[in-house]
Amino acid sequence: MILILSPGTRTDSAEYRQLSNHLATLQGVQVRVHSEHGIEQTLTELYLIGNTKSLDPTDMQALPCVERVVRVSQEYRVLGRHKDDSRPAYFDYNGVRFGQDTLHVFAGLCAVDNAEHVEIMLRALRDNGQVCTRMGAYKPRTSPYAFQGHGKACLPYVFELAGKYGIKVIAMEITHESHLDEINAALHQTGHPTGVMLQIGTRNTQNFELLKIVGRQTEMPILLKRGFGITLDESLNAAEYLASEGNRNVVFGLRGMKTNMGDPHRNLVDFAHVPVVKRLTRMPVCVDPSHSVGSRAASPDGILDVMHVTAQGVLAGANMVLVDFHPAPTRALVDGPQALLLKELPHFLEDVQIAREAYLRRVALAKKYPE
Ligand code: PEP
Ligand code: MN
Repeated sequence: MILILSPGTRTDSAEYRQLSNHLATLQGVQVRVHSEHGIEQTLTELYLIGNTKSLDPTDMQALPCVERVVRVSQEYRVLGRHKDDSRPAYFDYNGVRFGQDTLHVFAGLCAVDNAEHVEIMLRALRDNGQVCTRMGAYKPRTSPYAFQGHGKACLPYVFELAGKYGIKVIAMEITHESHLDEINAALHQTGHPTGVMLQIGTRNTQNFELLKIVGRQTEMPILLKRGFGITLDESLNAAEYLASEGNRNVVFGLRGMKTNMGDPHRNLVDFAHVPVVKRLTRMPVCVDPSHSVGSRAASPDGILDVMHVTAQGVLAGANMVLVDFHPAPTRALVDGPQALLLKELPHFLEDVQIAREAYLRRVALAKKYPE
């Protein structure tokens, strides 16, 4: 059960003390406090865990400071959508809103190779009106002999260049808790010219200790990729690990499933699950067409498979597109064969726009013909 307190409730007030004294008398019920500090006010939610079946929502609603009561199912307590749950399905970060009704493209380098390529990429994004990108500094690789990413060495120039070109949010994978400190140090050193959305890759979806540590920091939002060989429920529970530790600014990323039934694509594209994740949870949903398809193959209609599946995801209501581009894919150190060319960026963005407009028209149509 969640008790949503009146906005601005102070935890040092007499009413709050009365409320917590009462909750302390409930047998077998533990209370977990979650506070969200906004610019104007603080929102506090109390999670009652344990023996809450016998609690009457009407009684709880009458307690001091309580504005609303939400009874949660066992699943995805923090991030899930529950009955009569009108908690928001969005968050703001560094001036950008991420929600179940917004859309942002994160085009960029799978792996940072040098400052020149980063700059060419970011300039192209700025010229095309983009404020988000992807930049890999820490790369999880199948072979220990493959390029592992430049790590912390590239962070200062990536952040400075992002600031120079007006990029507000960089999606960047981390594979170890020490990367958090390295990113924070580089942001601090460069004067916070941009923001970072921490990415947990598909190989780490169930790295629970990493999830707990990343979930404990609340400065940066998190993009959690679906695990490529586990169920959707298992991946959604992984997202819940982040939220249960305190960070609920989580975007859920679909990136295809590992099975040869998707051949000749690198992974079986799973973007039909966009509406499913939006129904089960309040997380914005990202699609990654590059790691799903894994090549620049095109169909006879002249459209690249990467663009086809992007459109499919956006048409299904995706809120974020993570996509590999590279100024010189043959020289890319990671995933060159699936990268789009910079000259394809305007085409890609226009194609996304067509799919987005079609999605919005479909939403309006569904409203015209309600169930
Ligand atoms: C990536 O986005 O660069 C990446 C490695 O993705 P995934 O974890 O989905 O394989
Ligand atoms: Mn990649």
